[in-house]
Amino acid sequence: MNSTALPQEIQNLTRARFADWLNAHNIAPYRADQVFKWLFVHRAESFDQMTNISKPVRTLLAESFIIGRLKIARTQQSADGTRKYLFELSDGEHIESVLIPEEDHFTLCVSTQVGCAQGCAFCMTAKKGFVRNLTPAEITGQVLGALKTLAPEERLTNIVLMGMGEPLANYDNVITSLDTICDGDCGLQFSTRRVTLSTSGLVPRMAPLGLATTVNLAVSLNATDNKTRDMLMPINKTYPIEVLLEACRTYPLSNRRKITFEYILMAGVNDSEKDALRLVKLLRSIKAKVNLIPFNEHEGAAFKRPDDAAIERFKQILHDRQYTVMTRQSKGADISAACGQLAADIKKYGQNK
Ligand code: SAH
Ligand code: SF4
Repeated sequence: MNSTALPQEIQNLTRARFADWLNAHNIAPYRADQVFKWLFVHRAESFDQMTNISKPVRTLLAESFIIGRLKIARTQQSADGTRKYLFELSDGEHIESVLIPEEDHFTLCVSTQVGCAQGCAFCMTAKKGFVRNLTPAEITGQVLGALKTLAPEERLTNIVLMGMGEPLANYDNVITSLDTICDGDCGLQFSTRRVTLSTSGLVPRMAPLGLATTVNLAVSLNATDNKTRDMLMPINKTYPIEVLLEACRTYPLSNRRKITFEYILMAGVNDSEKDALRLVKLLRSIKAKVNLIPFNEHEGAAFKRPDDAAIERFKQILHDRQYTVMTRQSKGADISAACGQLAADIKKYGQNK
């Protein structure tokens, strides 16, 4: 913890780190459980609400920390029920999160950075460039912010780290936020089986991730040869397909889990039969399932979504070879909330709040 920067947001600490802080201030460390429950289970907005904590301790906490909250600058609702939140951060930057309705629950797609440095050719977030990493408080704050808007009968059960940014490029903050998101006793209480982190393939951070947490891993593969992947995803020049897949093969997967390979289908770029067959070969010795994402078009995009027949043919080839394969029907395209369409462009939104 950076002591020169106090008071900081308490949600930037894991519960264990906060217990250490309490201990160092001669306060029983189990109080961390109570405080975290107030923050994440009861969603308290001030230390004064924490009535089972003594007044002097509450005062010390209020002097030492702030309780961070994200401001929702705008909410948009798609015709299919998808909701997109534009959050305003304390320094005036903006990020987006997307709440996706499923059959009997919601999934929240969370951002991990303002912008992204990876420069993928198909992605709208890339156009913004990299601005900064999100803090743990800003990552969990998106979940708290979305929860607050839900009706009593609506259940948010799944989290995907697939919004703006490359989660593994903000490794420490993402790990801290996952600690709180998956803290079943005093945190946000999401099961690790229902949390998925998606990476463009920052290979050196993959094994540490697998050792630090058991959330699901998704890898954005998007091509079956290095020439195409180099063109689509500059990170491939540093960690080419064979290096990435070796990291997947040796990834410390929890029992019976599989790695999800995301594959955006782009007409004439990576959607041929040959590609499908190469993909089958590449994934052969990996515990894999495949998520096909028909390209979501956006302003200025150089790519096109394949027609339905091409998508179906690609899917069938994988299916026939016993792969679990899904076509992700990205929701919320009419409000630019689909995969790869997040830019949090405040100018485009206008300033109406
Ligand atoms: N940076 C991480 C997570 C955020 S991107 C990553 O790249 O994995 C989340 C997903 O959206 C990735 O699988 C990415 O390949 C996909 N995506 C990006 N732009 C897209 C677009 N225009 N259409 C469809 N999917 C897109
Ligand atoms: Fe960044 Fe992921 Fe978009 Fe690539 S696809 S630019 S890694 S957010």
